[in-house]
Amino acid sequence: MKANSYVSVGSWQEAYKLLKASPKNKIIGGGLWLKKGNAQVDTLIDLSRLNLKKIEDKGAYIEIGSMVSQRELEQSSLIKGLSNGVISEAVSQIMGPAFRNVATVGGSVYGKYGFSDLIAVLLGFEVELQFYPSKTMSLEEYLAQPGFYDGILTHIRIQKKDARAFFKKVCLTSLDYPILNICITKGEKYVVVVGSRPLVATRLTKTMEYLNNGGSDFKEAARIAATEIKVGDSIATKGEYRKELVKVYVERGLEEVNK
Ligand SMILES: Cc1cc2nc3c(=O)[nH]c(=O)nc-3n(C[C@H](O)[C@H](O)[C@H](O)COP(=O)(O)OP(=O)(O)OC[C@H]3O[C@@H](n4cnc5c(N)ncnc54)[C@H](O)[C@@H]3O)c2cc1C
Repeated sequence: MKANSYVSVGSWQEAYKLLKASPKNKIIGGGLWLKKGNAQVDTLIDLSRLNLKKIEDKGAYIEIGSMVSQRELEQSSLIKGLSNGVISEAVSQIMGPAFRNVATVGGSVYGKYGFSDLIAVLLGFEVELQFYPSKTMSLEEYLAQPGFYDGILTHIRIQKKDARAFFKKVCLTSLDYPILNICITKGEKYVVVVGSRPLVATRLTKTMEYLNNGGSDFKEAARIAATEIKVGDSIATKGEYRKELVKVYVERGLEEVNK
């Protein structure tokens, strides 16, 4: 990436005005993904002074500012207290601590990365995204939309739930991108999520329907999951292998959340 200038903004209005001024102006979170590409950026817009580094208990939900780092998220006692700490566990598997000290929650969610461990685990919960100037949508809605929302992601809100949860990142070496990630939560209902297919994570609606209507044969649930999941090939592995992994880990995850 090459950037011509950098502005640390002092207000939302200033940030949004700059963002709208040119398609070559970009918000910068941790800058790790931006730096990896070879985009020609005109102005980098830094939100660091906008008080977005907070994780707050808001009663029914936990609110996370978009500039919170992955490491802060992973270490937060509020996040560790949610559904046997599954979000902390998933995030702790992304690269190393030095990397996670820089990567932000905002950049990780906004980017809709197919391989994202954070998105996969968040889809196991009800998550709302708040954009400036005034748009709220669920994480599911955001992922279903083509492209990226033309605004600034300010906060994400995770609805609290009392659930048992399972997360598995499958990768060839420990610091690699996942070739598959799976999250299962069991609160009042089951939520089953598969990501890095290599497309972005998605909920498995037929599998969830089976389980939430009383289906209790986990092998059958895993079979449904492997049938319904849309997978593809990537440099790292084949779609067929991904389906085999889905079978194994959905069954294992269901056993885990029912212990
Ligand atoms: C080498 C490498 C390996 C990785 N491995 C993994 C992995 O194994 N698992 C995994 O889950 N992730 C992985 N990631 C992704 C990483 O965890 C982060 O999700 C990613 O770097 C984005 O976070 P960032 O803060 O660096 O975003 P940035 O690079 O700053 O921004 C990313 C994009 O989001 C936009 N943006 C940032 N913040 C906002 C905002 N508040 N509002 C609107 N737009 C915004 C930027 O303009 C840019 O387009 C990897 C990344 C790298 C570079």
